[in-house]
Amino acid sequence: MISCVNQKIWRWRSNSACEKALQYKVGEKIHGFTIHQVTSIPELFLTAVKLSHDNTGAQYLHLAREDSNNLFSVQFRTTPMDSTGIPHILEHTVLCGSQKYPCRDPFFKMLNRSLSTFMNAFTASDYTLYPFSTQNPKDFQNLLSVYLDAAFFPCLRELDFWQEGWRLEHENPSDPQTPLLFKGVVFNEMKGAFTDNEKIFSVHLQNRLLPDHTYSVVSGGDPLCIPDLTWEQLKEFHATHYHPSNARFFTYGNFQLEQHLKQIHEEALSKFQTIETSTAVPAQKRWNKPKEYQISCGPDSLAADSSKQTTFSISFLLTEITNMFEAFTLNLLSSLLISGPNSPFYKSLIESGLGTDFSPNVGYNDCTREAYFSVGLQGIAEKDFETVKNIIDRTIDEVIEKGFENDRIEALLHKTEIQMKHQSSSFGLTLSLYIASCWNHDGDPVELLKLGNFVAQFRQCLMENPKFLQEKVKQYFKNNQHKLILSMKPDDKYYEKQTQMETEKLMQKIDSLSLNDKQQIYKKGLELRAQQSKPQDASCLPALKISDIEPTIPFTELDVALAGGEIPVQYCAQPTNGLVYFRAFSSLNTLPEELKPYVPLFCSVLTKMGSGILDYREQAQQIELKTGGMTVSPHVVPDDSHLDAYEQGVLFSSLCLDRNLPDMMHLWSEIFNNPCFEEEEHFKVLVKMSAQELSNGIPDSGHLYASIRASRTLTPVGDLQETFNGMDQVRLMKRIAEMTDIKPVLRKLPRIKKYLLNCDNMRCSVNATPQQIPQAGKVVENFIKNLSRSKKERKPVRPHVIEKPVHNESSGSTHVNGSQIIRKLITDPTFKPCQMKTHFLLPFPVNYIGECVRTVPYTDPDHASLKILARLMTAKFLHTEIREKGGAYGGGAKLSHNGIFTLYSYRDPNSIETLHSFGKAVDWAKSGKFTQQDINEAKLSVFSGVDAPVAPSDKGMDYFLCGRSDEMKQAHREQLLAVSHDKLVNVSNKFLGTGRSTHGLAILGPENAKIAKDPSWIIR
Ligand SMILES: [Zn+2]
Repeated sequence: MISCVNQKIWRWRSNSACEKALQYKVGEKIHGFTIHQVTSIPELFLTAVKLSHDNTGAQYLHLAREDSNNLFSVQFRTTPMDSTGIPHILEHTVLCGSQKYPCRDPFFKMLNRSLSTFMNAFTASDYTLYPFSTQNPKDFQNLLSVYLDAAFFPCLRELDFWQEGWRLEHENPSDPQTPLLFKGVVFNEMKGAFTDNEKIFSVHLQNRLLPDHTYSVVSGGDPLCIPDLTWEQLKEFHATHYHPSNARFFTYGNFQLEQHLKQIHEEALSKFQTIETSTAVPAQKRWNKPKEYQISCGPDSLAADSSKQTTFSISFLLTEITNMFEAFTLNLLSSLLISGPNSPFYKSLIESGLGTDFSPNVGYNDCTREAYFSVGLQGIAEKDFETVKNIIDRTIDEVIEKGFENDRIEALLHKTEIQMKHQSSSFGLTLSLYIASCWNHDGDPVELLKLGNFVAQFRQCLMENPKFLQEKVKQYFKNNQHKLILSMKPDDKYYEKQTQMETEKLMQKIDSLSLNDKQQIYKKGLELRAQQSKPQDASCLPALKISDIEPTIPFTELDVALAGGEIPVQYCAQPTNGLVYFRAFSSLNTLPEELKPYVPLFCSVLTKMGSGILDYREQAQQIELKTGGMTVSPHVVPDDSHLDAYEQGVLFSSLCLDRNLPDMMHLWSEIFNNPCFEEEEHFKVLVKMSAQELSNGIPDSGHLYASIRASRTLTPVGDLQETFNGMDQVRLMKRIAEMTDIKPVLRKLPRIKKYLLNCDNMRCSVNATPQQIPQAGKVVENFIKNLSRSKKERKPVRPHVIEKPVHNESSGSTHVNGSQIIRKLITDPTFKPCQMKTHFLLPFPVNYIGECVRTVPYTDPDHASLKILARLMTAKFLHTEIREKGGAYGGGAKLSHNGIFTLYSYRDPNSIETLHSFGKAVDWAKSGKFTQQDINEAKLSVFSGVDAPVAPSDKGMDYFLCGRSDEMKQAHREQLLAVSHDKLVNVSNKFLGTGRSTHGLAILGPENAKIAKDPSWIIR
């Protein structure tokens, strides 16, 4: 049935990048660098080349691997001694213009002049990292040039510091009568970051457990300390920290190393000499007795039970992370202690029912010079502190006595094997982050990559000493006096107090100002505004051209066969390193409406409740031993050609080593045929954990919740998306988590099962190596044969179902061979879009705003124009208005596949003003005041997304899930390339103007007097 697959030629076996790198000789000198080490690391399919720069001592690691998604990063050890946020503000400011590229904000501009697959910068506790990746060699050189110049020769202008760091400015900069306020991008970003209670807890934990040096401060900046930073201090910090002698360079992929070295030497390093650096972090002095602290945080507005909102944890300082094998062992040990329902702390803490979930930063943490382990609970009552503390002590004693089951250790080592083999589409970035901390403290990054050695050594230790792990637990957890007991309680007045402290700080600053200072502030405010409003000349920056975009895409070969004579199974042969990826999609069309809100909950517990003869613990054990994970999620897919049609279902995803496929499919088969929904206590635990996770996620994803809400009334699918993924779902889960009797909810699960877990409306997909596919086909066929079929014919609940073949003979998908996939779409001919404005009250000091407009589906040529327009509006208008002038952390426009055009802002100090900016952005778009160059840049930026690399595990998924063939993608590509100035102005007028299309609005944020007065808003 799929024999044709085997006749194809598979090119990816070639390993030329690794082989070529093996030719380098130790001692060889290339462009100012000397090679110190060349090592093959077969388990990761790469060759590591270690070098250093002769004149500056800069360190360099190249990982040659046959991967076209090449990555560069440069990392500086930045170890601040105060909480002014100096490394974080510097990270922002160096990206505001440099000697060779003096234009403002070259970093954001390069997003539009490149086909980069990733561009960003991170400030960690003790280093700052600048990574980018791209698949295009010319682009790599362009970006490298901009990054090097930014890092080593930034302008660091005073106005940049004002904009990115902090400043005093009049509320309305052009009116000196309005009050002075603190403004600045990092200032607001950190205010937003500290609305996240988990973040507050983690920061305090690290500050207090490692109090002697740089880890006692907030590297990102404490909003109350940021205004103490001066521009002079910033420049001084740059000179001493962003020097090649304090730098670590990293490159990854299949591009030539020589070219990288030449460019880095010529454009940056040749202009420096070695300096002595004093950025190292000393070892933390060990305590001789434990310490205890209590802190406070903001209340959780979604929690009904305000008496159970306390967090409590115990943390232990472990070993230095450069002590690699010891660190590897402690990392595994930590997983054994806390992960999964079979771990001792899950059993003793989570299943005690005292709290909702583990405390933040639970488990092993290795982003500091010395690693630490933390364990505790959140969502507990204050009176239960002692109980929790005793449970933790008791659990440690029990582990020392009993040790761990062998199967659990095997499961963990198996997980390590899968992690090595699974290839993400951003493997270079993953590796760069994996080695960053250890390398930062002068650990050998090449040793760190030899995971196979650690596993072997670990097995050896266990064999020689069966009590190996128990002794470690005794040493690090029982007999360790460097132990921190931390608790956090909500304070109803928390945000009020924060605001008051900010006001005091502000008053203090204002009081110290002379008349002259005040005039300067007014003048500089105007100057900054003028600079932000000036048309910008980015012509100094390198850029790719539209002609650098590939005109056609390579097609992905797929085979579709019918299993059991009825269920379509899509096969995609890929270089998966011996892993098999199995997915299934099952339609929700027959599910009664009243059960729909419970589908996400059903999905999140389905693989965790036990099935067949396995109870939930045994099931978890089997999943860990035999698979790389089995997950289930609701899936709503809008149709590509009709806004009012969509497919609704549930997606089952899993992966395993090819030898384990029969076992994994057996587990699925038990889950489908005999799932268990009996363990009420366990169900309660799972519900609490996912409710907690959802509400903790709001500060990070507020803009997404706002957008989902805003689009709720615009298309028939919008309502379902709100039900599954919106604030409605968050609230429902919170409500269920707080029910005293959860049985009525539990009883819904077997009902959902009846409609969902059968093969009436199902399709499957398999991604595996070509050698493995025939075998995989047999196993999947077997799985399908054993699935139950529903006895009676079920009618869809919504009467309007369209049967849509994914492709047909006439349109012809040349890359798909075999049978037809038919999708059953839901439609509602009576649907009328309507406007709705919702304000969700949350106690945060920042807003998340979404405004949505109903436009056209994916296949409509206007869709392509709107997609380019969204990018254009973001880059040329909204970024300036919302972020630079408005002080929000982010903002922009986007067009989703579902045809919803969204304007949004993220961690925004403004609300109504931002909605005005959205309006101005639309006027700007309609006026057509943009150039051909602007359009080309927007196209490049859109194509860097369209052409983002797809991992072997995900190839063919657009076709499987959305029915989007490569022909359709090619047609869309041509529409994108054909977008012109006229078309952009045309779609702006046609869709975005007031009265043109239906809009929806939503804000998540604090109380707002203006909105409260406006009756068109619904406040929730
Ligand atoms: Zn930042």
